[in-house]
Amino acid sequence: MDGVFDDNRAPWLIGAPPDEPAAPLARDLDVDVAIIGGGFTGTSTAYHLSKRFPDRRIALLEAVRLANGASGRNGGLMLNGITVLDPSPELAAREHAITRGQIDAIEALIREHALPVRYRRAGVVQLSTTAKAAEEAHAFTEQLVRLGLPLRYLSREELERTLSVRGAHGGVLDPTEGMIDGVDLIRAMRPLLVAQGVQIYEGTPVGVVREGAVAELETPGGTVRAKAVVLATGGYTPRLGYFRTGLLPVISHVIATDPLPRAQLDAMGLGRVAGFYDDLPRLGYCSVDVDGRLIFGGGTTAAYGYRFGNKTTFDARPGDGPERALRGTLAAYWPELADVPIRHRWSGPLDLTLVRHCAIGVLGDNVYYAVGFSGHGIVLANLAGRVLADLYAGEHDAWRDCAFYMRRPGGIPPEPMRWIGYHLYTKLTGRSPWKRDRR
Ligand SMILES: Cc1cc2nc3c(=O)[nH]c(=O)nc-3n(C[C@H](O)[C@H](O)[C@H](O)COP(=O)(O)OP(=O)(O)OC[C@H]3O[C@@H](n4cnc5c(N)ncnc54)[C@H](O)[C@@H]3O)c2cc1C
Repeated sequence: MDGVFDDNRAPWLIGAPPDEPAAPLARDLDVDVAIIGGGFTGTSTAYHLSKRFPDRRIALLEAVRLANGASGRNGGLMLNGITVLDPSPELAAREHAITRGQIDAIEALIREHALPVRYRRAGVVQLSTTAKAAEEAHAFTEQLVRLGLPLRYLSREELERTLSVRGAHGGVLDPTEGMIDGVDLIRAMRPLLVAQGVQIYEGTPVGVVREGAVAELETPGGTVRAKAVVLATGGYTPRLGYFRTGLLPVISHVIATDPLPRAQLDAMGLGRVAGFYDDLPRLGYCSVDVDGRLIFGGGTTAAYGYRFGNKTTFDARPGDGPERALRGTLAAYWPELADVPIRHRWSGPLDLTLVRHCAIGVLGDNVYYAVGFSGHGIVLANLAGRVLADLYAGEHDAWRDCAFYMRRPGGIPPEPMRWIGYHLYTKLTGRSPWKRDRR
């Protein structure tokens, strides 16, 4: 499997606690549940299942290393909300309650076990880049505030005092959101999982899943026979033959600076909030890690790559198109950063769905899945572990009214129409062919 950190490193690895990878599987194995993938979805599912079912044999099979995929390569923003379809205020409030509860749960887990995880829950701002969008965001925020959400609409003037970006007409501050180092979180989960009896195998790519009452998973070191399988494989899922017309593994490029002086971050407003994202079709976002590195992604078509087929690695080389484009967008928000040295550049796989909405459910009797986070998965993929543990237990009621429940992503044409359509649309419009706007 391609996609390792060494030539494509996110700064989340810097200063992360040392982590000894688990040995690859080297024999045949019988388990109750085999979880494929060691990102947020896989580790949170392993955590919740092993906590609720301590007697079940649970194996986590990771092709490369834990946090190899999007979970170790993202922008770090812990965001609320689930749907990107225009939600009613009531639905948005319900989804906010669910995701806010999940951010609380992540924080509670870190505190309960004193986990060495770097995070900052200082609020995130959603920027409106036009006057019309700002007006709409203002009106919608007022409705949500009346429903009890702790949001604050920031006028252009207030925004300038909070986050000194240029070109925004207003913003919505959600003080319950924040940033988190995904590598820290996943590495810190390892001892908890092991203590709860989870068998972890790294360097163990699953090549084939043969479904059945007892499914068979082929790996280079042996066959895993499992009564239930969990697909926690994010943008890599179509390679296993699942959701080929439901998921588009688009590659997203990110850049990061060295740690910036505290005074500079404060002057930019990044001492006061954990980051921002905008409302442009090619969503731009920014966060600051706890050492003060500014992390910036999206914001331009060149920040995303889609290669023919299901290729999920696409390095952003120093000074190449994606880096120049990202730098340009960053400098549009903060002209004073036009020449800031870029120290890190990396890429990660997004599992986009047509409606940019995740899907969590069961195929047949025993193949569980949580996919399609569409670049909005730090909180949701961690929530997926709780949802899947409930579905495994036969307890569906808490989730039936959620739009992700049992959703089957689809509607993406096969190759080569997919490749032609994506590139043609993007070239002609400069936009993503997918729907967006979550508020
Ligand atoms: C550049 C980028 C920026 C992002 N920024 C944000 C953000 O700021 N906020 C936010 O909320 N979300 C963000 N996201 C999205 C978020 O990171 C993902 O939605 C989330 O991490 C998905 O987790 P996952 O566990 O489902 O998938 P992944 O983390 O991709 O994990 C899948 C794992 O499965 C393994 N695997 C794949 N195939 C196999 C196989 N056959 N056998 C065994 N193992 C296999 C892979 O090696 C990988 O480790 C971003 C994503 C990217 C790429």
